[in-house]
Amino acid sequence: MKVLKFGGTSVGSAQRMKDVARLVTDGEKKIVVLSAMSGTTNSLVEISDYLYKKNSDGANDVINRLEQKYKQHLAELYATDEYRQKTQEVLAAIFGSIRAYTKDLFTLFEEKVVLAQGELMSTNMVVNYLQEQGVNAVLIPALEYMRTDKNAEPDLAYIREKLAVQLAKYPDADIYITQGFICRNAYGEIDNLQRGGSDYTASLIGAAVDATEIQIWTDIDGMHDNDPRIVDHTSPVRHLNFDEAAELAYFGAKILHPTCVQPAKYANIPVRLLNTMDPSAPGTIISNDTEHGKIKAVAAKENITAIKIKSSRMLLAHGFLRKVFEIFESYQTSIDMVCTSEVGVSMSIDNTKHLTEIIADLKKYGTVTVDEGMCIICVVGDLTWENIGFETLAMDALKDIPVRMVSYGGSNYNISFLIREADKKRALQALSDTLFNKKKG
Ligand code: ASP
Ligand code: MG
Repeated sequence: MKVLKFGGTSVGSAQRMKDVARLVTDGEKKIVVLSAMSGTTNSLVEISDYLYKKNSDGANDVINRLEQKYKQHLAELYATDEYRQKTQEVLAAIFGSIRAYTKDLFTLFEEKVVLAQGELMSTNMVVNYLQEQGVNAVLIPALEYMRTDKNAEPDLAYIREKLAVQLAKYPDADIYITQGFICRNAYGEIDNLQRGGSDYTASLIGAAVDATEIQIWTDIDGMHDNDPRIVDHTSPVRHLNFDEAAELAYFGAKILHPTCVQPAKYANIPVRLLNTMDPSAPGTIISNDTEHGKIKAVAAKENITAIKIKSSRMLLAHGFLRKVFEIFESYQTSIDMVCTSEVGVSMSIDNTKHLTEIIADLKKYGTVTVDEGMCIICVVGDLTWENIGFETLAMDALKDIPVRMVSYGGSNYNISFLIREADKKRALQALSDTLFNKKKG
């Protein structure tokens, strides 16, 4: 069985919901995971913010506006009064329950309940629309099977068992609709898998039912070999390995949520990224297979700060790196690139909130220099060290560009360069030309 996930914009209007319904009714049995309609989760966050501040007028304002929008969606979605009425009752109860919090204590627990309502609404709307169209579709409540453990990690054994129970209730159904994002935690309370978590839901469900494929449908046009699209020529990347996808996730390749990779990778289930605006396009497939000897993508991330600490005390000393790294850890600042020599270490960070404190602490151990306005350029593909040639090609492409750091060998799939932001466009173009042979001669 396949698992298909549709994001917020893919169910963002009555028309888009109808498009999704058409896409999923191809006669194949499947599980369909839906996000909330786009903008809804943000509105629910806004409502929660007002409720925390005990501003019930502010909250009611947003609630009323949201409810109005949903009434409009219902008017456009259904052809019959029966289904419009039926869905209207579900939504009225949901809005009623959100409103009730304006008169009640509001804490983190209530916020989680409020945030869960977007997915509850979108799934009810779509399942009722499918049923109105005569499709044998049923709603599988995520809150009955999606669960995290005491470490807030998904409890896959529980999910597998309880999801099977839910599916077994409707052996003849063609389409199982369920909510992305929402779950219960180890204490049975309503919780969620973090913002953007619907991809994660799809991946967990895929692993739980041993799906043949997990499809992530968005309206972003696939993944390109030089995302972000600053270079002239782009071509779609058809296949990525899970590790290559994970490398790219840091660079804001927003197509696949980073958490989504793990369950699918371990269960060895391919994830296919597809485009709702161009449903017949093959998309990008992410799996455990590596295309040997191929460079897949070049990506960039700006706003990077490089920090160098140089100390003769580092020479032949042990424990120096630990002391340096501990300083970053104590300020909850993650390090992205690291390069070391015998007498110095350079690191890159993208969060400079505690830069001043970090520098002050580092100065206890050596001379510190900082370079701001830098950019990481990362080349992703089969970069197994035994392969020859790619490092040279990448270096050669950057021969006219000042390079502050190079990181190679951290994984089998990446070479990263730290350069000035001002050189980003030139570097991406040069790498693209050299590695993808776009403008030879
Ligand atoms: N609706 C949730 C969000 O906006 C989850 C998702 O769309 O993936 O974050
Ligand atoms: Mg090599």
